[in-house]
Amino acid sequence: MYAQVIVDVPHVETDRTFDYLVPESFREWIAVGSRVWVPFGHRVLQGYVIGLSSVSPIREVKEIQDVLDLTPPLTEELVSLGEWISQQYICRLYSALQAMLPAALRSSYQKEVSLTEKGREQVWLLESEQKLMNFISNQEPVPFDQVLKDFPDERSFFMSAIRLGYLSCEQVVKDRITRKTLLYVKSATSDERMKEAIEGLSKQAEKQKQVLRYMLTQSGPLPMKVLLADLQISASSVKALVEKGLLSIEEVEERRDPYAGRSFQKDQAVQFTETQASVISHLEQALERRQASVHLLHGVTGSGKTEVYLEAIARCLELGKEAIVLVPEISLTPQMVNRFKARFGEQVAVLHSRLSHGERYDEWRRIRQGEVSVVVGARSAIFAPFTKLGLIIMDEEHEGTYKQEETPRYHARDIAVQRAHFHQAVALFGSATPAMETFFKASKGEIEYLSMPERVGARPLPSVEIVDMRDELRSGNRTMFSRALSQAIALRLERKEQMVLFLNRRGFSTFVMCRSCGHSLQCPHCDISLTYHRTNQTVRCHYCGHTERETTECPSCGSGHIRHFGTGTQKVEEELSKHFPGIRVIRMDVDTTSQKGSHEKLLTMFREGQGDVLLGTQMIAKGLDFPKVTLVGVIAADTVLGMPDFRAAERTFQLLTQVGGRAGRHELPGEVIIQTYNPEHYSIELAKDHKYDRFFSLELKHRYEKGYPPYYRLVLFTFSSPNVPLVVKTADEWVKTLRQTLPSSVFLLGPVASPIPRIKDRYRFQCMIKYRDEPEVLAWVKKLAEAFARDQKSGDIQLTIDVDPQMLM
Ligand code: ADP
Ligand code: ZN
Ligand code: ZN
Repeated sequence: MYAQVIVDVPHVETDRTFDYLVPESFREWIAVGSRVWVPFGHRVLQGYVIGLSSVSPIREVKEIQDVLDLTPPLTEELVSLGEWISQQYICRLYSALQAMLPAALRSSYQKEVSLTEKGREQVWLLESEQKLMNFISNQEPVPFDQVLKDFPDERSFFMSAIRLGYLSCEQVVKDRITRKTLLYVKSATSDERMKEAIEGLSKQAEKQKQVLRYMLTQSGPLPMKVLLADLQISASSVKALVEKGLLSIEEVEERRDPYAGRSFQKDQAVQFTETQASVISHLEQALERRQASVHLLHGVTGSGKTEVYLEAIARCLELGKEAIVLVPEISLTPQMVNRFKARFGEQVAVLHSRLSHGERYDEWRRIRQGEVSVVVGARSAIFAPFTKLGLIIMDEEHEGTYKQEETPRYHARDIAVQRAHFHQAVALFGSATPAMETFFKASKGEIEYLSMPERVGARPLPSVEIVDMRDELRSGNRTMFSRALSQAIALRLERKEQMVLFLNRRGFSTFVMCRSCGHSLQCPHCDISLTYHRTNQTVRCHYCGHTERETTECPSCGSGHIRHFGTGTQKVEEELSKHFPGIRVIRMDVDTTSQKGSHEKLLTMFREGQGDVLLGTQMIAKGLDFPKVTLVGVIAADTVLGMPDFRAAERTFQLLTQVGGRAGRHELPGEVIIQTYNPEHYSIELAKDHKYDRFFSLELKHRYEKGYPPYYRLVLFTFSSPNVPLVVKTADEWVKTLRQTLPSSVFLLGPVASPIPRIKDRYRFQCMIKYRDEPEVLAWVKKLAEAFARDQKSGDIQLTIDVDPQMLM
């Protein structure tokens, strides 16, 4: 038997396989999807088996050296999905296959064997075989590799002993992040004594008092690291209390299930509304048909979509099938997970990036071994290795984070459709503000359209107040807070209620806007904001390269209040403290949430009332439910609208709708205030009135006129190098090559400096193609990219290709 193996050689010109002989002892182990070690040149490399055959056209075939896993980590379906990804998103097949596996399987790993009951009972063994068995029983578990090394002649017996169940073999992940044991803190005395101790402690021991107060709120032992993180203290305060006999510390074997030990309230079944019932019955029929189908569930925030998901999953499980639920990373909160765990209990695996490699691997293994039938996770959970997939749900399907921003640059939505077709399964995309692409397909009937236009219990959608910041300027208010917002904030502080304030998506703030009339400089060719370049005081379009001098006078109204615009969260925090002395601000942005777990920590602090304001970028716009929040404010809608991106209007509409959806979910009535210099912009006006359909048709018209998705497809090429002349020259040549190769119906834009012109000392240039109805384009581009990789022997230059880009930075 021969295996076709794809090996990890980054510079091999094409994605070709190499043939290897499968040794007799591996026969039953190797399947399509196995990971193997193979000799390659004078090295030994890792590879994936993507095919098996009984003959090989090659005469001198080397042998596979080792198999890494007992169960192939990839299924045949995933291998063929990988092939599709490498074509569709123009990347190496090896990278596509890697991307589907948990990180633990990409790094260090080890197999260990131990003797089983069945093995112990075996008496008819040869002497040499018995020796091997004794070796394992003596010091169990033993590294797999060590057995092979110490008993080279017993290899084939060893393998069959595992297969027959005399020995068990486990994959062990060496995970530096996960320790085997965990320290727990618990109280060592009565609550009464703890309270007395708080009274008795000196002023200097404030931290210790804090610890005791905190422990009093706990019903049982608390992981030490949680305690330290929650209170932001060092271990010395805890140790001092242990010495006083008030607390004790114990070492507990760490269970890697991150939700272990938490209790989940059993979910009560709700009485479905008529709309919910009809959507559910539609989905049920689709599931029973056992044919691939794709649905859009367009439901306003609070319309009960999650309840629909839960019910659809239940029906899917009844049919003996499995389900994947994708949720944006940021919405994957314990509350969200809780809703699924409460309903489906142990059948649920959770995958998200905040788990350690070991935790992720454990969850993944439960999926691969068929121990669970529901996966809730962020983007990469779309690759959950299920074999009986019946339902794929994508909540908030419009979210940009479903697109992976590194190779392979796949979009989970496309993968969902692909997998639904393979499994004859149902794909369900849910959103209050569907992506233009999705709604467009629904409007053409390519996707089935389901709608839930009202909130459960006829709760009204919140009313939204738009504040015209130009008026503020006219009346002499030059601060970033309008009078309306200032008053609203002051009122909340007085009433001790909480508020959430939003800024733009990211600290990207280089567009030029007139504060007097709201006009922002736009490219006459591309309909996107021009970006300001400090180095030579110009404004430029980073799609087509159009350049203008910086102006000091607004071309629209002639005022001199035109300047580059944008504020960081840090600046807003400062201003808040200046205007409202004593205000407690919890700031959440990329700077404060880069550490693992910091995100939840900040949210917990806010939930516990340790802050008046939660201030952040769009990362706080969704999934969060805080009963005491009665004010939601957007500091400047313009920072999203001014993004140099053809999706700026769509993003603005989505953000404002999300923000609106946050308020008024609970008993306390909510108020929403949106500040902007462009109150009449259609994305802002229509979001205020919750008019998605109208927004969609207006935006669609713009997209058509300017040639953007969903009418046209884009491919973005970014070159980066520490060497400026090299990057310019290479980008120029690339554009020339594209022009010669691609049909004339394909538009070429650039090359031009990227909006983020330098990252980690690498200069970046980009160009873009736009096309429609040209099925061959991607295949051509892939060939060109392979030729580029082959020819690029000298100079440090990198080309990244982004098909259907979500971000054009
Ligand atoms: P969405 O996901 O569309 O924002 P949810 O499913 O979270 O909406 O529902 C919003 C709220 O309404 C939740 O608190 C949910 O428990 C509740 N809810 C949903 N459906 C019903 C129903 N049929 N009857 C009563 N309450 C419901
Ligand atoms: Zn103006
Ligand atoms: Zn342009």
